[in-house]
Amino acid sequence: SENKKSLGIALVGLGTYSTYELAPSLLETKHCHLAGIVTGTPEKEKIWAEKYNIPKENIYNYETFDTIVNNDAIDIVYVVLPNAMHADFCIRAAKAGKHVICEKPMAVSVAECQAIIDACAKANVKLSVGYRLHSEPHTQEIQRMVREKTFGNVQYIATGAGYPSHGNPNPNQWRLNKALSGGGALMNMGVYAIQGAIYGTGELPISVTAQEFSTKPEYFKDTDETITAQFEFPSGAMGSIFTSHNAKADRLYASCDKGWYELDVAFSYGPLHGRTSNGNEISFPHKRQQALQMDDFALHITQGTPNKVPGSMGLRDLKIVEAIYQSIKEGGRKIA
Ligand code: NDP
Repeated sequence: SENKKSLGIALVGLGTYSTYELAPSLLETKHCHLAGIVTGTPEKEKIWAEKYNIPKENIYNYETFDTIVNNDAIDIVYVVLPNAMHADFCIRAAKAGKHVICEKPMAVSVAECQAIIDACAKANVKLSVGYRLHSEPHTQEIQRMVREKTFGNVQYIATGAGYPSHGNPNPNQWRLNKALSGGGALMNMGVYAIQGAIYGTGELPISVTAQEFSTKPEYFKDTDETITAQFEFPSGAMGSIFTSHNAKADRLYASCDKGWYELDVAFSYGPLHGRTSNGNEISFPHKRQQALQMDDFALHITQGTPNKVPGSMGLRDLKIVEAIYQSIKEGGRKIA
């Protein structure tokens, strides 16, 4: 696949994200295209085949999926299933010799993340996690300011990522089912708040202290509703994250010894927007983040450009997630 101009992607799991974000983005990508689908819902096969001109031989279900090994039209398998299914399908994709993009959170445990990384290494295929913001210009501007210390050293970072439950009131959705999601707000939006705290400081937390809040226990029976956590960074900087399935939050703010910068909105599909303490707006033309993300990964495969989101980053975040849950359960400060 390294010699191809455009790599073929197969989407696994044709739910909301595949339908409304990834498939439309794949009409805008330059270095990859939608080549195949993997779905457990037979009615979707015909709809997608017609809409995206997908040949019959590139359509799979979860049982026939492994025969994708014989299909040269598919270079990359993009796993867009409920979180607890990521590891199984990423490992099967690697065994089929396909490069892998795994949606966030990478899996439901550190051990599963490691198993995905090992399977991809063994099969000699590339692996990335669906953290679209690393290809997004406002986020990259934050990363640049952090790298160049434009406002000096970060002393405090606050990030929040959440949405209210009336955004998806269905009590039977898999996100509220721990067996399928691995956890609630923290697993879903919380990983964005963790990510923002890390790229907003350029540091990894050395410890976390976390608290859980439940204001609507009759609805959030099985999974966490709202979590706050405090991070200590090696430089002495402090971080505070908020995530919720019951409140809107979409912001990154960093206070440095010579100024500050913020993004609001910071984590949604965009357009993002922000400003700095010197009076400048952070504003770039809007493009579909997922198109930028998938093109970046395709170029990593074909041109050897850096992998902006390697599997190790997904694993690292799950370590922090596990430390946060541990802090909530046992109380106190945990080493991340
Ligand atoms: P949806 O519930 O909308 O879709 C999930 C799809 O997975 C279903 O439509 C179905 O597809 C398939 N599926 C297979 N087994 C099951 C099962 N037991 N229960 C439910 N669905 C099943 O989820 P999303 O598309 O919102 O999320 C999918 C993944 O993408 C998650 O990991 C999520 O965290 C991630 N995501 C990432 C985002 C980002 O910004 N990076 C944004 C949104 C989601 P089919 O009918 O084809 O079999």
